[in-house]
Amino acid sequence: MATDDKIPPLPERIEGLARLAQNLSWSWHRQARDLFRQVDELLWHQTRHNPIRVLQGVDPERLERLANSPAFLEAYDATVAWLDHERDASETWFARHHAELRAQGPIAYFCAEFGIHNSVPIYSGGLGVLAGDHCKAASDLGVPLIGLGLFYRHGYFDQRLRLDGWQENTDEVVDTRIIPVAPVAAPNGSSYLATVETFGRPVHIRAWSTQVGRVPLYLLDTDLEENHADDRTLLSRLYGGGEDLRLRQEWLLGTGGVRVLRALGHHPGAWHANEGHAAFMFLERIRELTTAGSSFEEAVASVRATSIFTTHTPVPAGHDTFDPQQVAECTGPVWDELGLSRERFLALAAHPKNHGGRFEMTALALRLSAAVNGVSLRHGAVSRQLWQPFWPGRSSDQVPIGAVTNGVHLATWMANPVMDLLDKHLGVEWGSRRDDRSLWERIDSLDATALWEVHLRLKDTLFRFMREDARRHFADEWKDATQVAGAGTLLDPRALTIGFARRFATYKRAHLIFSDPERLHRLLVHPRRPVQLIMAGKAHPADTPGKEVLQRVYRFTHDPFYEGRVAFVEDYGMHRAHLLVQGVDLWLNLPRVPHEASGTSGMKAALNGVPQLSTLDGWWEEGFSGNNGWALPSLDADLTPDEADAQDTEALYQVLEEEIVPLFYRRDDDDIPFDWVDRMRHAIRVAITHFTADRMVKEYTTVAYAPALKGTPLTDTPPPLLRGEEEDANTPVRGD
Ligand SMILES: *Cc1c(COP(=O)(O)O)cnc(C)c1O
Repeated sequence: MATDDKIPPLPERIEGLARLAQNLSWSWHRQARDLFRQVDELLWHQTRHNPIRVLQGVDPERLERLANSPAFLEAYDATVAWLDHERDASETWFARHHAELRAQGPIAYFCAEFGIHNSVPIYSGGLGVLAGDHCKAASDLGVPLIGLGLFYRHGYFDQRLRLDGWQENTDEVVDTRIIPVAPVAAPNGSSYLATVETFGRPVHIRAWSTQVGRVPLYLLDTDLEENHADDRTLLSRLYGGGEDLRLRQEWLLGTGGVRVLRALGHHPGAWHANEGHAAFMFLERIRELTTAGSSFEEAVASVRATSIFTTHTPVPAGHDTFDPQQVAECTGPVWDELGLSRERFLALAAHPKNHGGRFEMTALALRLSAAVNGVSLRHGAVSRQLWQPFWPGRSSDQVPIGAVTNGVHLATWMANPVMDLLDKHLGVEWGSRRDDRSLWERIDSLDATALWEVHLRLKDTLFRFMREDARRHFADEWKDATQVAGAGTLLDPRALTIGFARRFATYKRAHLIFSDPERLHRLLVHPRRPVQLIMAGKAHPADTPGKEVLQRVYRFTHDPFYEGRVAFVEDYGMHRAHLLVQGVDLWLNLPRVPHEASGTSGMKAALNGVPQLSTLDGWWEEGFSGNNGWALPSLDADLTPDEADAQDTEALYQVLEEEIVPLFYRRDDDDIPFDWVDRMRHAIRVAITHFTADRMVKEYTTVAYAPALKGTPLTDTPPPLLRGEEEDANTPVRGD
């Protein structure tokens, strides 16, 4: 690959560092991370763990010394041997359990964002991080996945908060010389791989590739001289523009993605759309078949049989819908190639209840994929109700939408010291014995003192990071003490510290804990049992109500009334997410039930022994075991949102005051909170056994990928497509 020019020549004895830096698998391999830290610890921290920048910046003399250091070379040789061994997938879980599928072609996994590592900013939050974790687990398991996404030159946005807490977005261009992406050469020597018509103009597409362990990830890009100036920036920003831009991006992702894979000679045997953003991918594959002579019905049957669709939210705003006229202009007369009328084409994506005739990406995906799932058991049930109108005549519990509960990638999210502790307690082989239940029961006997010490170290790491962040901002821009306090410099490392970090969507209710300022104040400034709160998160740039909640919360965190016991961490991304989920004492999650499809940050916290307090929504409904955290009681479904907020607030304060704070401060003679540590152990055990991406990808493989690859039907109950030619977009789907 052409990335080698990024890294200056290295001493021959350690030139494998360049290879290591260019496969993102270093990011979830402890020894590889350690190796780069050893190369230059200061640079490692300053670059926020970017090995390419470390190798670009390190003093050549230092490299020469390392090339002659026996200790370094020992670690180096072991790590490079691991990387080479990784390439061989013959002994993986997939090879052992699904040997018969290895000839069936890969699984194409489409998503609008991928969060692999902080240094590659092509993600905005939960969906992207989940997609990244999915790729990593697929790599670990040897599941032959190919990722397909978009290359956002300007990334998402970096969060800058004005002094009054209003979020402004800064704009930085991603520098491809410091991240492990390489342009993909077109087999025919052309400068682009595929072309897609949109709004009557051809748009040429090239791709960048990045290696996520064994999984290649292709990222589409239209910034080519051959393209019209307006089209060159189509993919430059994630969720950056209005509806029109979003539509074009999704059209390019779905249609362009299939064409790029074809140009590169891939023949996937299964196709997974992670979220409706990628649903045009199904349509393009139908078009391939109809232009080759199939009837539309045959083509749909064939595409459905190999298609998987995962829906990620029950919140209406989370489902993209477009003006049908605009869609027709974007796609051009693709209906001719499909053998459909324009009306029938548009009706493929219409909601049975009409909804103003909008073109709904989720509707398109529901009709064109045989395996459909939500992302937690509860979300599966909620989705069956929500999408029941697509299966007229069926009750919602007969709607064929399943659930594959999300999981998080263990080696990405569990802190090194916690893994080291498990090494000591379970033996270093525990990572490869993940299916052995008896192993996990031994977590219940994890040494309390050792676990607590590890936790305090991680807490200290978080607090130090926040102080250094505040110090830099103070010197560079703030010059103001309130800001310094609000950034967490007054936090007390001994006090019970609650973390709340996620996107500022209003249903996540970041403001709830501030509902009764006096009562919160009493909790926070208690003389013997103080509590602290660390908040973080970005609001979607177009989400004004979300930004307003953020601003309110930010002001609370900067209010001297709370005596510096609340803090706001700016620019929440994967790097800060790591520090937070590993370093707070309690993870807080307050979605308004049933709006959270799954939630994953609580799983990350749990892997590090941080128990969660949450409403019983998303994964927590199945994840709460009674002793791995706390749950707010379920409420009557017919309450108004205000009533639900009020009841949840009351329950929240109560459980903090009566259970959580006393438990945390109940100590033995060695100052160990023994009952609390017990919850920590349970949190780890439940997360490891049920909520890792390893379990998730195995489940996708069993329930969806393997049947699709084998050609066995995924479900036998497609939602009815259109009947007569005469139907128009207003009556798109009709049961018998
Ligand atoms: C895990 C993660 C999320 C998702 O958190 P939720 O609890 O699902 O809201 C969002 N952003 C980042 C950076 C994450 O790492």
